[in-house]
Amino acid sequence: MATIITDECINCAACEPECPNTAIYQGGVEYDGLDGAKHAAISDDFYYIVPDKCTECVGFFDAEACAAVCPVDCCVPDPALPETEAVLLERAKQIHPDQTFGEDFPSRFKQGAEAPADTAEAPAPAASAAPVASAAGVANVGNVAMMSPEDALLASVPALDDWGVPLACFRCTGQFEVPFQFIKPGTVLHCPHCGGSFVPNTTMYQNVARRVTRFYDAWTADLDEIRKRRQAELDRFEEKLRVGLDGLRQDVKDLSSDAELAGAPQRDRGFFG
Ligand code: SF4
Ligand code: SF4
Repeated sequence: MATIITDECINCAACEPECPNTAIYQGGVEYDGLDGAKHAAISDDFYYIVPDKCTECVGFFDAEACAAVCPVDCCVPDPALPETEAVLLERAKQIHPDQTFGEDFPSRFKQGAEAPADTAEAPAPAASAAPVASAAGVANVGNVAMMSPEDALLASVPALDDWGVPLACFRCTGQFEVPFQFIKPGTVLHCPHCGGSFVPNTTMYQNVARRVTRFYDAWTADLDEIRKRRQAELDRFEEKLRVGLDGLRQDVKDLSSDAELAGAPQRDRGFFG
């Protein structure tokens, strides 16, 4: 699949000089087609990639050069345009007729990854009705007996990376969940129902991260408040106990001072008492 630039592009121009095929153009600027003619810009607002000229860097690099330098991870594989390594290599040869591509030509396919160099391909998430979040919570519950009530509560809420993000495949509309750690922009995900691939964008990633983080922050703040209140109650109880014990000790001491101790010398009361 050719690489595309999403509307997350900040027009920093970092990618343009990296492309070995001059496939990247500034928004609004006409591009030079393989037919030698000028063509209208594909995007007026953002840098764009000419699909006919993009080889996903096959023939030149082990990973997409534009994706490697993009500061906002918006150079991503186009899921709508899947292409084989052979097709991409053929394109590289067409664009660079004077260049020789040996058997060991660089290719991202040889890395066994579909994702850009700085991203990892997520494992295909299992199609499951069980929310990932719940599963993580259940996994932690095994140790609850050993925990304080607060820690048990904390364990019942999964960490940010483990939150299950519900997704619907845009191809087959199948629904599934993916742990948040795999929602990183540029990561290639696969639908467990139809096997179709897609790539989360930065906006989705940021929105989910913001929402989950907001919940987590508020929730932990509430828990901290409960902890403080509980600690204050414990402190009051401890002080009350200390005062009570002091009084108890004193009373017992007073009461015992009137007693005649066993073995203590007895007052002489005469032979008949
Ligand atoms: Fe150019 Fe490679 Fe990016 Fe395609 S993936 S636009 S060939 S730098
Ligand atoms: Fe846009 Fe990324 Fe290229 Fe910068 S490096 S112009 S953000 S696509």
